[in-house]
Amino acid sequence: MKSDSKIYVAGHNGLAGSAIVRRLRRSGFNNIVTRSHADLDLIDGDSVRKFFREERPEFVFLAAARVGGILANATQPVEFLSENLAIELNVIREAFAVGVQRLLFLGSSCIYPRDCPQPIREEYLLTGPLEETNRAYALAKIAGVELCRAYNKQHGTQYLAAMPTNLYGPGDNFDLEASHVLPALVRKIVAATVEGAKEVVVWGTGKPRREFLHSDDMADACLLLMNLPDAEFVQLCSTGSAAPLINVGCGTDITIADLAQLIASTANFNGKIVFDPTRPDGTPRKLLDISRLSSLGWKPAVKLSEGIAQVVSAYAANAHR
Ligand code: GDP
Repeated sequence: MKSDSKIYVAGHNGLAGSAIVRRLRRSGFNNIVTRSHADLDLIDGDSVRKFFREERPEFVFLAAARVGGILANATQPVEFLSENLAIELNVIREAFAVGVQRLLFLGSSCIYPRDCPQPIREEYLLTGPLEETNRAYALAKIAGVELCRAYNKQHGTQYLAAMPTNLYGPGDNFDLEASHVLPALVRKIVAATVEGAKEVVVWGTGKPRREFLHSDDMADACLLLMNLPDAEFVQLCSTGSAAPLINVGCGTDITIADLAQLIASTANFNGKIVFDPTRPDGTPRKLLDISRLSSLGWKPAVKLSEGIAQVVSAYAANAHR
């Protein structure tokens, strides 16, 4: 990408998309195209076609999606499946129609089978059954990966799918019904500290393990990928029968119980952490193998303890306003 290349970031108001836009701006890219949800509904094929014909971007970061935590995924599978399928199909199809040079499609580590060996390598895709609590979302994202593969195979395009692990960072969703675990626990624990509550309830057994990556690190990896020399990018995209897939993680995970403890000590919460095993645990573990990305010279910069301190102080400052 050149500094004046026209770059479309789909989903620029979300956690991942906003981090990508910040990173692009910081690196001097000055021709970034964005549209808010109100101005362009990516589920509407005609609007997406019109937008691509008018703007004709050269590079696309596809970070738009209906996303949510374990509860939202389990209670709205229709929206998670159908909206994500529509967004992927519309954006990738119209990107092809206007000859976009490179496209990076963002998914999630939940695309991999529930019980696959850990850490999870890219080639484990489609080798076993999915986790029930987010099967609809996972299947939509798998379809998006397959669409990238199909275009690459049939038309020689350069569409790559990046699968980030659980992300957190600025602009996260703190709605307890819809959010992922890290912002949910920050909200609950900060509120408990302010109110002097004696305990905080954590869903599930606390035993599942999750890998958490700061959205700035994810954005950094995405830029590295989109800026790879042709030969390396093409090699990632044309993997024969395998999917054009690359994991984006930090390489280590922790239990939900330890995450809660870490947030509690950062927020100076001295009460008890109690678990509610009537809530689902979801998949026991989903640690990504990041050797493919590491071999390109990338490593994460934000330590989990530092990232959590940042989220806690930003959330606490906002809550006091
Ligand atoms: P997942 O990674 O797709 O399972 O999605 P989440 O980030 O929503 O949940 C991760 C784990 O954290 C699951 O085992 C949840 O049961 C657990 N968890 C504990 N407390 C909470 C909470 O308050 N909100 C959410 N979303 N998850 C929680």
